[in-house]
Amino acid sequence: MAIEHTFSIIKPDATRRNLTGAINAMIEAAGLRIIAQKRVHMTRAQAETFYAVHSARPFYGELTQQMSAEPVVVQVLAGDNAIQRYRDLMGATNPANAADGTIRKAHALSVGENSVHGSDSADNAKIEIAQFFAGNEIVG
Ligand code: ADP
Ligand code: MG
Repeated sequence: MAIEHTFSIIKPDATRRNLTGAINAMIEAAGLRIIAQKRVHMTRAQAETFYAVHSARPFYGELTQQMSAEPVVVQVLAGDNAIQRYRDLMGATNPANAADGTIRKAHALSVGENSVHGSDSADNAKIEIAQFFAGNEIVG
């Protein structure tokens, strides 16, 4: 199977609680490789662009406010079938429904403050990676 790249964000609820390392340990234990990573403080406009697909949803304002209120860690993860494998490792959007062993089961606070983002398709992974990383920042 071909190596895929996916885009990950360790969200403010997790960076605030000093969970970057704990989440990275779960990512690496699952066999995904962190091939790019940086800590950034998104502007509101960046968060709005990133989540534009959700602009009509009732939680869009709260989501983009939270994502731009505090630092996040953005990452590129690589591995066989990385997009689906990271979605599986993240767990359900609502941590109340997340399976044991997932990041959201272990760490998420609520459906909104759910600790991590992961791309949901190859097309979106490419778009999301390009929003935060230049090619020479991705070192596989
Ligand atoms: P996922 O992050 O699992 O792909 P979505 O793409 O559906 O989930 O939603 C994007 C993000 O919006 C979620 O991770 C979460 O932070 C927030 N969100 C989704 N649904 C809700 C909701 N019902 N209430 C508040 N925030 C939500
Ligand atoms: Mg999503």
